[in-house]
Amino acid sequence: MAPLALVALGGHAILPKDMAPTIGRQFVYTRRAMRRVLTLVKGGWSVVLTHGNGPQVGHILIRAEAARRQAYPIPLSVAVAESEGEIGYVIQQSLYNELTFAGIHRPIVTVLTQVLVDKDDPAFAHPSKPIGPFLTDREAAPLRRRGVPLIHEEGRGWRRLVASPRPLQIIERDTVRRLTEAEVIVVAAGGGGIPVVEERGRLKGADAVIDKDLASTVLAQSVRADLLLLLTDVRKVALDYKKPGHRDLDSMTVAQAQEYHAAGHFPPGSMGPKVEGAVQFVMATGKRAIITTPEALAPALAGRDGTQVLP
Ligand code: ADP
Ligand code: MG
Repeated sequence: MAPLALVALGGHAILPKDMAPTIGRQFVYTRRAMRRVLTLVKGGWSVVLTHGNGPQVGHILIRAEAARRQAYPIPLSVAVAESEGEIGYVIQQSLYNELTFAGIHRPIVTVLTQVLVDKDDPAFAHPSKPIGPFLTDREAAPLRRRGVPLIHEEGRGWRRLVASPRPLQIIERDTVRRLTEAEVIVVAAGGGGIPVVEERGRLKGADAVIDKDLASTVLAQSVRADLLLLLTDVRKVALDYKKPGHRDLDSMTVAQAQEYHAAGHFPPGSMGPKVEGAVQFVMATGKRAIITTPEALAPALAGRDGTQVLP
């Protein structure tokens, strides 16, 4: 059977940081990323794709908030599900076009993915992840009265804070695995997946967002991926990132990664979860993980670019 790569596309690989989000731009950048995924497919890999959803889910929440007198409100779990549909469509069509142009016929499907979290995860008591639009004092006031957790950023305004519990299990893991065995390219666990908790044996949506790098890692392990590729907007992980003495890493062992992480080189909201995810995957499987950009994917596969995380 073909080796299986789990490719996690960072939000910024689909939509660069400094760009106003539009559907047109998402297609432009997704198409670029899909050209790189095409090289993987041509190289004989089976592929599962995951992706971030920060800007998209933020805009879904802006629409919901602006239309709250005309349209029914949606919980965060539903907003995440909608973002999986939106981005899944953009990826499916972009990859379909790239494959077809290359004369390759391979089915592609997006799986709306529920990800189980612990209803007693301490993260629920300490919402820490800012999401959605920046709000003015006036817009924030009614939310504050209702006890919605908010954070204030000087000069930009208020933002909602939500819990970011750890992903425990991918509910649709067997579906994803069976599809890959049938040589279907699968898009799954978008935006970290739809957070669900179990109550008396039943699943229920949770008001939370799950880190996409950690969810990708759990999915990679449960579909028995041979390689975890975390694609973002930096070619290599660095020590003292953008500080004096900045040095890019060609590779690091799990032990080195843990030592650098403990020394504070990888911040929680950005590189931290990627390194944690890579370490977890490599430790659990003995296989390799790579952190790099879509552009550097091909040389990184050959071990000549990116940061290789090794046992
Ligand atoms: P993504 O959308 O791909 O998850 P993130 O912004 O969450 O992107 O994470 C990638 C970012 O991590 C880089 O753009 C970089 O600014 C930041 N970063 C923080 N620490 C490091 C580090 N030690 N090495 C490389 N990049 C780092
Ligand atoms: Mg990130």
